[in-house]
Amino acid sequence: VPSEAYTGRVLLFRFGPEGLLAAGETPESLRELRVDPFATPVGRWSFGGEVAFEAEALWAPIAPGKIVGVGRSYREHALELGNEPPGEPILFLKSPSSVVGPLVPVALPPESRQVELEGEIAVVLRERLCRADPETARRAILGVTAACDVTARDIQRREPCFSRAKSFDTFCPLGPAVLCEPDLEALELITRLNGVERQRATVSEMTWSIVELVALASRAMTLEAGDVVLTGTPAGVAPLAAGDTIEVEIPGVGVLRNPVTRLGG
Ligand code: ZN
Repeated sequence: VPSEAYTGRVLLFRFGPEGLLAAGETPESLRELRVDPFATPVGRWSFGGEVAFEAEALWAPIAPGKIVGVGRSYREHALELGNEPPGEPILFLKSPSSVVGPLVPVALPPESRQVELEGEIAVVLRERLCRADPETARRAILGVTAACDVTARDIQRREPCFSRAKSFDTFCPLGPAVLCEPDLEALELITRLNGVERQRATVSEMTWSIVELVALASRAMTLEAGDVVLTGTPAGVAPLAAGDTIEVEIPGVGVLRNPVTRLGG
């Protein structure tokens, strides 16, 4: 309903150890959220007491029931992997068990010798969406957060299905916050590895818009409140090694920062 559209900036955070939801215009002005963010329009949210921002206590801002990934949505990234940009986006599923929050180490598994980062804009659904057109999809989006679609590239290259390459535990850092109801046509994405910029792109470089990608995903499977659509990665994917630090930044959302370790090491 257009009259419920919210135009201010709201960041939604989730803190451990109990999954406290807190929202505000900045990390310094958070209040406890007193409503279900998936049931109440952002403009009608009600709040309790002040919440102190604690970076170490951050969880991933949502716990998705499923994660739909989109492949080759940025033209230059398709070319850097030697793929022709497809006529239609490639969809895949990434296991929800791969989600971790900010500062949690990405653990490199022994099954892969080539794990790579893919900085991405993650879309969070507010409500159920089935076989939608792009404008219906727009109204069903709660907001966006930063994601790293960590990928075992060697496994992805040798297996026809992406599931294993994309779904190792810790392979989906999300956060630090959901930026609610952003301008989906004006987002920028920056990825750094050990402080060195590796990816920088705006959504205008995507072959399909965010709302088109979410609509497409909803025509493959019903999307539910809290589900996440990863909208693909621009050129500049980079291999990871133990000791690295990944940063995925979306201006307005914040910086998602995760160290890298070797599993069991
Ligand atoms: Zn990806």
